[in-house]
Amino acid sequence: MKTPILGILGGGQLGRMSALAAARLGIKTIIFTPEKDSPASFVSNQTLMAEYSDKSALQDFAGKVDVISYEFENIPLETITYLEKLKAVYPDNRLLEASQDRVTEKSFLNKIGIHTARWHDTQSAQDIKLKLSEWGANSCILKTTRFGYDGKGQARIQTHSDIDAAWTQFQNAPLIMEEIVDFAHEISVIVARDQFGGMETYGPMLNEHKNHILSRTIVPAHLDPALMDQAVAMTKNLAEKLNLRGVLTLEMFVTKDGHLLANEIAPRTHNSGHWSIDACAVSQFENHVRTVCGLPVGAPGRHSDAEMLNLIGDDVLTASKYLTQENACLHLYGKHDIVEGRKMGHVTFLKDKNT
Ligand code: AMP
Repeated sequence: MKTPILGILGGGQLGRMSALAAARLGIKTIIFTPEKDSPASFVSNQTLMAEYSDKSALQDFAGKVDVISYEFENIPLETITYLEKLKAVYPDNRLLEASQDRVTEKSFLNKIGIHTARWHDTQSAQDIKLKLSEWGANSCILKTTRFGYDGKGQARIQTHSDIDAAWTQFQNAPLIMEEIVDFAHEISVIVARDQFGGMETYGPMLNEHKNHILSRTIVPAHLDPALMDQAVAMTKNLAEKLNLRGVLTLEMFVTKDGHLLANEIAPRTHNSGHWSIDACAVSQFENHVRTVCGLPVGAPGRHSDAEMLNLIGDDVLTASKYLTQENACLHLYGKHDIVEGRKMGHVTFLKDKNT
């Protein structure tokens, strides 16, 4: 089997776990990141440390690899467009474009028949007030249209004075307002699709957040089977419409009256799929590597039920207790500094498979 050299933009834990999966297949990885001592750089063959706007470094990177992918969505689109002229980049910029801006993302989802919470591309504080009265609502969530993650760049609006405060807080950054979903659950589905159109999915996963950050993922989700099938079908539809080559994740709300509303697309592997390293024959990371490198997507072959717990900030200080716990699979990302809210590692607890 001919193995290409895979270039990964971004040096975080997702890149690290893709690099580890690549190594298992004999695929070498080169990381491109502005970050010194990044988690991915410790487990890959080489790291090029430069800014994403550094064209000569990007050219050097493209010259060293056979195919390029990325591990987080906030890579500037211009970087991808520039690299695409030099080497194949997967997923291609259609997916990145659809997922980098919340307005573009929601318009695209709605256009292909995927429902979301009611939303509005806001223009001013006054505009928000008018829209709220049009909706007959007192509250909403305001989000910056770009660069938000883990609840960053968003504010819950309860009163008119909150609107003015948020407008000032976000300093005129483009904002989207969304109806607050009174959800029963948050779920996600991950899909991997290869160049031949073969597709495999993980989930739906049941996700619990603390302070807007994923805390726990449970698989299987044990929800209504028809609803779970619908979530998978929606995600596959999205992958097909984008002619995906690679991996994407669709995050969804399950409303209290049993409907699915898409929240956002992650154009990559996802924190809610980390359990797949230990509970599947082929993990989300291996399928990321396979699909972008031109290999066929693999059936996940989940052999265990699983629960994944994120180790966030100080949680990592007590991680050693999992070393002696049966069926606990500990993953630490090698991050030096403990910062509140920072994902330091995770642990997957394997259980007997019931479904
Ligand atoms: P996001 O950055 O859009 O993924 O939002 C982070 C978290 O905020 C989600 O996982 C939800 O827990 C919550 N959230 C986001 N949007 C909404 C919404 N429209 N209604 C209710 N909760 C939301």
